[in-house]
Amino acid sequence: MSLDWEYFFSLFTMSAFYHACVTVIVLSTLSWALGAVLGFVVACGKLSTKKWLSLPTSLFVWFFRSVPLLVVLVFVYNMPQLFPSTGAYLGVPFIAGLVSLVVTEAAYMAEIHRSGLLSVAKGQREAGHALSIGFLGVQRMIVIPQAIRVSMPAMINEFVTIIKLSSLVSAISLPELLQTGQRLYSQNFLVMETLLAVAVYYVAIVTIFGSVLHWAEKKMDIPSRAPETLSTKQCENLRSQAIAVSNAVLPKVEKGAPNALELQGITKSYGRHQVLKSIDLKVKPGEVLSIIGPSGSGKTTLIRTINDLENIDGGEIVLYGEDYIKGGTISNKRRIREGIKRIGMVFQSFNLFPHKTALQNVMMAPRYHGKAASYDDAKKQALFLLDRVGLLAHANKYPHQLSGGQQQRVAIARSLAMSPDIMLFDEPTSALDPEMVGEVLKVIQDLAKEGMTMIIVTHEMDFALSVSDRVIMMENGVVAIDAPPSDILNQENDSQSFERVKEFMGRAA
Ligand code: ADP
Ligand code: MG
Repeated sequence: MSLDWEYFFSLFTMSAFYHACVTVIVLSTLSWALGAVLGFVVACGKLSTKKWLSLPTSLFVWFFRSVPLLVVLVFVYNMPQLFPSTGAYLGVPFIAGLVSLVVTEAAYMAEIHRSGLLSVAKGQREAGHALSIGFLGVQRMIVIPQAIRVSMPAMINEFVTIIKLSSLVSAISLPELLQTGQRLYSQNFLVMETLLAVAVYYVAIVTIFGSVLHWAEKKMDIPSRAPETLSTKQCENLRSQAIAVSNAVLPKVEKGAPNALELQGITKSYGRHQVLKSIDLKVKPGEVLSIIGPSGSGKTTLIRTINDLENIDGGEIVLYGEDYIKGGTISNKRRIREGIKRIGMVFQSFNLFPHKTALQNVMMAPRYHGKAASYDDAKKQALFLLDRVGLLAHANKYPHQLSGGQQQRVAIARSLAMSPDIMLFDEPTSALDPEMVGEVLKVIQDLAKEGMTMIIVTHEMDFALSVSDRVIMMENGVVAIDAPPSDILNQENDSQSFERVKEFMGRAA
């Protein structure tokens, strides 16, 4: 038996097939896009800590991944028999096919999105929170763009699957490619030739759309972008445009002025382990505090409670004489968010947004909070801050194109962009190679000189002694010592607690 090639080629000029192609493309694209959106909502529900959200969404995924598409399709198409009012919509093969494909795809897409969302590090959301960006803002600007990049290859694969799955819609008489072919060969019995042509149409659609999506994926691929260092001339030009950002440094210790921060009886437990045991701490405006202490003593936990990255069980934090965070009560979210705006936080692991350039990292919070009058102003202010930390030439680089020390300096500039009154640093140099520690400490030192109120958790003892007004040593969840560096360096102070801090600092006499 030989194939009828003439007939085979004639199928590529037949308008019915072109109409069928359009149907397949429209149906697949719509199912993919709507499935992706619905899947995202389902994934968020599944990841929610609220049972009433996670349970139904988990059931949805479980059910529609278990039932074959063909069964869903026939069921949906016949729905008007049960509910006649749905006839106007579900009786239409295209709509019944679309609905079936969307709900089935949403179940698969939900799992793809869930893996993407889970891949975004916790520190990313925390960095957003520390910039006082609300939940939706964090999702929109930080989490979703990163999650989508991770899910993209799997989503492209899903598009190819949908194009092929759309052939099942032939079962409810929608004139898509397969059904158009079936109609032809049931009349002329040239089954092989017709199916071969149908296969060619599918391969062509998959190839064209697959390439377009792969191209889009490549465009989104940040690690492959070439790093761009600006020339001295370009830097000069940008420097001349930069707009200075004043850190709203409040006057140093005025008589009667409220404390910048007052921590009163802060307690915090993880399960049965009490990590903070009634901490009291007062920080005056302009004061620089270093917190030292052995690992696990609660330094990180303490500093994180100050900008609401950890809830406190009891006690109270007062910010510039105003109520801010209260333990053990329902928190006033708005008051806390207003407070966080006044507090900058620098993390041990930088937590820069990897999908944004250094410049965009610095601009994000001021843009979000409408702090700058325009995009241009926000950019010029960000350039000023990047210049300040010595990174103007690297403004257009992505975080992975910068060294650890440079990333941490961008992170400091990002916090300064909100003109905070207080800066918190959690071991800002402990993730850095020794040769980069100095460049970061220098930036912090300059801030101290300008009168910025700061709390710095650090293991750099010389730095702590030279830069701080007070050194706090924590041990087992309590403040073991709170003294100016001069007292610690004073050989005559030989009480037990001073001996302990000297021993810890390696300065035992
Ligand atoms: P430090 O910064 O001084 O090294 P941390 O504040 O990070 O100490 O931790 C203090 C204690 O709290 C440690 O014993 C640590 O294991 C515990 N801890 C910290 N975070 C958590 C958490 N999210 N869940 C449970 N335990 C935690
Ligand atoms: Mg720590």
